[in-house]
Amino acid sequence: MMNQMVRHNTSSDDQPPAIEALLERLRTSHPDMSGWTVVSMTGRSRDFLHHQIHTRVGGLLPAVLSFDDYRTSRIAEATGGRAALPVEDALLRLHGLRCREEGRSLPPANTERLLSFLSTIAEFSVTREELRSLDRIGLEQIERIDGFFSLLDSFRSSLAGEGLFYPPFEAGRFAGLKPAANDLFFGLPLMTPASQSFFRRIPRERLYVDAPFFGSAMPGEPPGYESALSLMRRLGLPERRVAGQGLAFSELSERAGLPALLAQEIDAFLRAPRSDGEQLFIVPLDERLSFYLWQLLFRPLGNRINFAPWLPFTHFAPAQRLAQAVRGKTGLMEVRRDLVAELTARWSDLDEADRSACEGAITLCDTLERLRPLMGREWAALSEYLISAKKLRLRGRRSAPIQVVGLGDVTGIPFGRAVIAPMNSGIFPSKSFSGPYLNLIHLSRLYRTQYEAEDLALRQFLAFGNTAHIVALYDQASGAAPSPHFSFLATEFGQTAVKRRLAPTPFTVPEGRLVIENTAELKEKLQRHIWSFTSLQKFFTCPCRFILEDIEKIHPPACFEEKEGAGLLIGNFLHRFFADLKDHPPAVEKWQERFDAAWEGDRDLMEKLPDQAARKAIVRSFLSDIAAWELETGRPLLFSDSVTGTELKLTASFGEGGRYQLQGRIDRLQSEGEGLLITDLKYKEKTEVSEKTKLFELVDKPDAFDDRFQLVIYAYLALKNKMVTPGNLGVAYVFLRPKVRGDYEGRLSEEDLAACDATLDKIAQRLDAFLSQESFLPNFHAAGCNYCFHKALCLKPDLYRTGGKPW
Ligand code: SF4
Repeated sequence: MMNQMVRHNTSSDDQPPAIEALLERLRTSHPDMSGWTVVSMTGRSRDFLHHQIHTRVGGLLPAVLSFDDYRTSRIAEATGGRAALPVEDALLRLHGLRCREEGRSLPPANTERLLSFLSTIAEFSVTREELRSLDRIGLEQIERIDGFFSLLDSFRSSLAGEGLFYPPFEAGRFAGLKPAANDLFFGLPLMTPASQSFFRRIPRERLYVDAPFFGSAMPGEPPGYESALSLMRRLGLPERRVAGQGLAFSELSERAGLPALLAQEIDAFLRAPRSDGEQLFIVPLDERLSFYLWQLLFRPLGNRINFAPWLPFTHFAPAQRLAQAVRGKTGLMEVRRDLVAELTARWSDLDEADRSACEGAITLCDTLERLRPLMGREWAALSEYLISAKKLRLRGRRSAPIQVVGLGDVTGIPFGRAVIAPMNSGIFPSKSFSGPYLNLIHLSRLYRTQYEAEDLALRQFLAFGNTAHIVALYDQASGAAPSPHFSFLATEFGQTAVKRRLAPTPFTVPEGRLVIENTAELKEKLQRHIWSFTSLQKFFTCPCRFILEDIEKIHPPACFEEKEGAGLLIGNFLHRFFADLKDHPPAVEKWQERFDAAWEGDRDLMEKLPDQAARKAIVRSFLSDIAAWELETGRPLLFSDSVTGTELKLTASFGEGGRYQLQGRIDRLQSEGEGLLITDLKYKEKTEVSEKTKLFELVDKPDAFDDRFQLVIYAYLALKNKMVTPGNLGVAYVFLRPKVRGDYEGRLSEEDLAACDATLDKIAQRLDAFLSQESFLPNFHAAGCNYCFHKALCLKPDLYRTGGKPW
């Protein structure tokens, strides 16, 4: 592959590359080029462009601006010299406005989403009428849509009153502007309606755009699906056709193979003879991996690498120190002083990333202090949000042999080889924007514009390389196939995607399985452990998992962590909601208004559930149905007004002689006739259980620990704590997503309840048996094993698919 030199854009009969033509033009004014303004219109390519002009022409440089900066300065002129508001300030002001209007604190993440949504509709000139006339828009939605536009208008006018503007909200003004006489333009911007209108006024002799290349199988006319070809034809710009024999396409089975593949590519590139200045460009397309790739693969390469993508600030110690200072309400200036002293004393010990994190933290201290008056009472929440959202950029050498870049960063710069990975559905091309009322079906122009820009960036980038390796991930676990874009490209260039089985070296060799010795120390820890239903379930089904998670406290790296599922977030909210509702009888009448206020004020839901409005309607309808049924039948269960206690944390000993400890948190205790009922709320559908087998007989089952043991444990704890007496007690799950109307209850049978003490004794005996073992082995048949994060530690067979059916 490395020997196939196919430099696509440099044959003699071609137009010179756009960068060469631009430099040539600038040379005519050398050495004083300061009269020109060069606008880099693609992505973040401004820095690369500046580097090219600086190193290849030199002299008194022109102003080199990114498209965003250029647009902002032109809009500022057009508004009579109003000052542009940076995105951080805009967020804080909008947040302040919303909190004031609603008279309560709101989660900053929610405002951030709203700001991004409003920016998108302003950038793409989406009108109020357009949204109001969409299908299936009811009165409530119309009010919401009007609310968005009123907020947009009031925010814009409040800024204008202070002589300010927020550039994305004023994008429409740019449409009416003309380029100045000494402006030169390089590349293409994202073609929103306003950019397109401005773009059409750029004289062709001041526009420098590289022709993207298309494969020979690309139809002559733009195909039915989105493609950069349609964009080029619309703008009347040139295109090129090539055979594409320098391209290779691979499919990897899992993310773990990516570092291995990149390591192979880097190794091959650095070892092979190469011409002076030849570079390997790596374009990583999975942001969640960037920190780990940096730590494990790129950082050790020192100055042989330039890492241009951002790194998450929160992964570095200074970010944690800042967050702690905000939470602990200690002065930020103290942390700032320490960071400055540390940076000065340890400058030469720190590497680029640590230095950058330290500097970033110092700057952020200043920013947070500067913005404090804008944040008011929301200061702590907003500061924490800004710390978590901050990104770090490193300053590497543009001449380093390995350049890690983003697409659109480096258009027009020749390179030896490129690796672009992983081109997956939803990552690149990026997911279509989705916000309230705006999605792929409603407003395909957003999707088309974004897609065409990304397709163009890829094709222009590839046009300057000798060879390129494009990689997609075929994720068998989730059944996700590589993106259609990947498949279209392979077909267009007449290449076959090769399935490759790659895993990082350390993970290919381990054999056998984990054996955890039951040392005296471990035995003692297990003996003293305060058991709960969850920990017993884990220990009995896979003791290794329990020991790794609960005793050794091993957490998976952040990139493996799933976002909290919607079901879990809603379930937790409902627990809090019903705990509070018990103080507001009659619950069946008062719940609705309290539900709305509690939902809207719940920070977790607002921050972590992007589709919370739709989820709210669903949860509300489930609860309404249950409330209506309970009213009709006169059998209050969920909306009972005789709840005597909620969230009761109880402990007790169990096993003969009280040799083990048990704990549990009972959701609710409520009266039921003459007796009491323990209820546990579950935001899920009812699970059917067979009553034939008694729970007592299931204690020793090796692979599963029945959910109903949770109810037995609650009954045991309530009895031992003398909160209830035998004979007047019931225990039940209340399922909040019923399949069948009226079927909400999953009650523990009388026999299982009566055998409560005996069952706990048997659990103690099973613990005895476990504790007397010499060692613990993983149980690959455990329920939940497929979703466990410790597969790489316990060496679950076939984890890395070293054998079996080829995929
Ligand atoms: S992967 Fe399975 S066997 Fe391994 S620790 Fe987790 S649950 Fe146990």
